[in-house]
Amino acid sequence: MTAPGGFEGIWNRPVGSTSPESPVYFPAMTVSRRTFVETGAALAAGGLLGPLPAFRKGQATRVVVVGGGAFGGWAAWYLLKAGMQVTLLDPWGPGNSRSSSSGETRIFRATYGLRVFTQLAARALTLWQEHEKRWNRTLYVRTGSLRVKSVDDERLEQAAMPLLKEAGLTLEPLSLADAARRYPQVSFEGVKKVFFEREAGFLHAREATRLVVEQFVAAGGTYRQVAALPGEKTAGRLTGVTLSDGTTLTADHYVFACGAWLREIIPEVVGDLIRPTRQEVFYFGTPEGDNRFNEPQMPVWVDSDKRVFYGIPGNRGQGFKVADDSRGPRFEPTTGDRLPTPEGLANAREVLARRFPALKDAPLLEARVCQYENTQDGTFIVDRHPLAKNMWIVGGGSGHGFKHGPAVGEMVAGLVRGEREAEPAFRLARF
Ligand SMILES: Cc1cc2nc3c(=O)[nH]c(=O)nc-3n(C[C@H](O)[C@H](O)[C@H](O)COP(=O)(O)OP(=O)(O)OC[C@H]3O[C@@H](n4cnc5c(N)ncnc54)[C@H](O)[C@@H]3O)c2cc1C
Repeated sequence: MTAPGGFEGIWNRPVGSTSPESPVYFPAMTVSRRTFVETGAALAAGGLLGPLPAFRKGQATRVVVVGGGAFGGWAAWYLLKAGMQVTLLDPWGPGNSRSSSSGETRIFRATYGLRVFTQLAARALTLWQEHEKRWNRTLYVRTGSLRVKSVDDERLEQAAMPLLKEAGLTLEPLSLADAARRYPQVSFEGVKKVFFEREAGFLHAREATRLVVEQFVAAGGTYRQVAALPGEKTAGRLTGVTLSDGTTLTADHYVFACGAWLREIIPEVVGDLIRPTRQEVFYFGTPEGDNRFNEPQMPVWVDSDKRVFYGIPGNRGQGFKVADDSRGPRFEPTTGDRLPTPEGLANAREVLARRFPALKDAPLLEARVCQYENTQDGTFIVDRHPLAKNMWIVGGGSGHGFKHGPAVGEMVAGLVRGEREAEPAFRLARF
C-alpha cells in the first residue's frame, strides 16, 4: 500500500527525528486518521465497545502476539510471565533480515530530550541486565557513548542531562582537550562540543531477539512461523486472526507488533502513521592487531554535523560500524531492494576520513539495508485499536526502539492485564 502524497518532502529532511540525535521533531503534517481515532476513543470511553474481554475463570487468558521482533518478542515474554497462554507468530522468524530488529548491534543510550524515553531506557537497562543474569548471556556491552558536535546546538544534551541524572545515569560534557587525550584515535577537528554518556553501549540485537523467543518457548510459550492478518471485528472486539497456512486462530487479546508492516496490516488505523525508510549500514575492517577501534578502547559514537552519523566499535570482529541517521527514501520491507548504494558508501567513507583518519582507506567488510519504521514525531505507538478493545498496536520504533524492547514488553503486559493506562505520549489520539 502506498502513503498519500507528501511523504518524501516530509521524511527526507536532513534533520533526523529523535534517533539518535535531535530532541523531538514535529513536522507540520495533517494526519487524516485523527477523526477516526478520536471517534474510536469516544466510543470506547462511552462504553459502546462493550467491556474488556473478561479474564476467563480457571483458564489462562489467551493472547496472540503478531510479530516476533524486539517489541513482539519481549511483549510475548512478559505476557507469558504474567501467567497468560501466549502464541507468537512471525512469517520469517525473530531477528530475520527483513525485520527492523535484524543486524548484529544496536546502540543503547538514554540521552533523549523527553523524560518518557529516558525513563523507558533506564527501565530497559535494568531489565536487559536482569535478563542477562537470568539467561547467563551477554546482551549489553557498556562502552559509553561519545557525542561529537560540529554544530553549535546542544539543546538535546542540555535537555537530557537533568533527565539522565534523575534516572541515575550520566551525560557529561568533555573539554576538547580531555576528549583528544582520552580518544587519540578520533580527530576532533572542527568539533565545537563533546559529551560522554557513561552507561551507553551496544546490544547484541539479532542474538537477543532470537534468545527472547527461545526462552519464551522454553518457558511454555508457543511460537509458529506463519503470517497473520486481523479477522473480523464484531461488537468492539477482534474475533481472530487469519493465518498464512489457511487456518484461523482465536484468543482473548491480540497484540500486533509487526514493525514496518503495521501500516498494511492495520491500514484503517496505522496506514501512513508509520512510514518505513531505507537505511544503509556499513562495516569497515580495522588494521591488523590494532585495537583502538574495538571496545573497550572505542565507545559507541554519534557525530552531528550537517547530518548525523553514528557507529559501533568492533563487536566480535564484525567491523567498525558506520551509519547515516538521516531518513532515506521510502522503503517496502518485504520485497525492497537491499543493495547499499555507492553514494551511501561514499558518505560513510567521508565520515571515516574526517573523524577516524587511520580508517580512511579501511576495506568495506559488510553492508546492509534495514528500514526505520518512523512515526511523524519519532515516538512509539503503544495503544489499543480504537474500534477493538482486545486489539493492541505496538510499533513505530522510529530508528531507536530496540533498546527499549524489554520495557515496552513489560508495558504491553500491563496494558493487556488492565493494570495500567496507555502512556499518553504513545497514544494514537496524539495524531
Ligand atoms: C539500521 C537501523 C539502525 C537502528 N539503530 C538502532 C539503535 O542503535 N538503537 C535502537 O535502540 N534502535 C535502533 N534501531 C531501531 C530498532 O531496531 C527498531 O525500532 C526495533 O527493532 C523495531 O522492532 P519491532 O519489533 O517493532 O519491529 P521488527 O523488528 O521489524 O519486527 C516486526 C516483525 O513482524 C513480522 N511480521 C511482518 N508481517 C507479519 C505478519 N503478517 N504476521 C506476523 N508477523 C509479521 C516481521 O517478520 C518482523 O519479525 C535501528 C533500526 C535500523 C533499521
